[in-house]
Amino acid sequence: MRKYVIMGVQGSGKGTQAKQLAADFDLVHISVGDVYRWHVQYHTKLGAQVRRAMNAGELVDDSTTETVVRDRLALHDWNYGFILDGFPRNRRQAQFFLESYDVDAVIHLDLPDSEVRRRVLARRLCSNCGMDYNLIEHRPAREGRCDACGGELVTRADDTEEALAARLADYHAKTDPALELFRGKELVISVDATAAKGAVQRAIREQLGLPQPVRKPQADRRR
Ligand code: AMP
Repeated sequence: MRKYVIMGVQGSGKGTQAKQLAADFDLVHISVGDVYRWHVQYHTKLGAQVRRAMNAGELVDDSTTETVVRDRLALHDWNYGFILDGFPRNRRQAQFFLESYDVDAVIHLDLPDSEVRRRVLARRLCSNCGMDYNLIEHRPAREGRCDACGGELVTRADDTEEALAARLADYHAKTDPALELFRGKELVISVDATAAKGAVQRAIREQLGLPQPVRKPQADRRR
């Protein structure tokens, strides 16, 4: 049984790294943001309650979020363990978590604000079909146009310098203290998240003492 929490600023690759660990070690990936998005999409009572905070990019209140996490973990569908992504986001949530559950490790993806800025400000979205682009990793073939439908590529409304600066300040003010609490319990492993995805995954596994991903054999070039 493995119980992990993964923490890191927006754009640090938490979702990607969590999904790979979950797939290879049969862990249940629990993303609190995904749970909330599901409720908003299906117009549940909880969805109506949290929609405003989500649309404003604010945190949902702690007691609602703690209930969501408690109910989700109470399903006990995680025979081999879980990886919790997006929770805790502040000191109170971290305290709640430590009082209610034991955790094997907190994986901290460490990314400097300058790199977050570079990654987030490179994001583009097709105004017609919604396909995501990133001018660093996934450039369109024709500048400013969607490869799939030719639609115009635009920046998300909340991906501006000012909005990002506010999100980063909020993250540091609220989530750094949660990380500090876990650090005090010697639960945190920190990984340099500026590296490529594969290297980040290997670094996480090395620090957690987990087996490394199996490399796919190279295609047979003789054929
Ligand atoms: P995320 O996908 O992690 O960015 O989460 C999307 C939204 O869900 C956030 O902007 C918050 O409104 C809400 N949310 C996710 N996790 C939490 C949390 N631990 N505490 C409060 N609100 C959260």
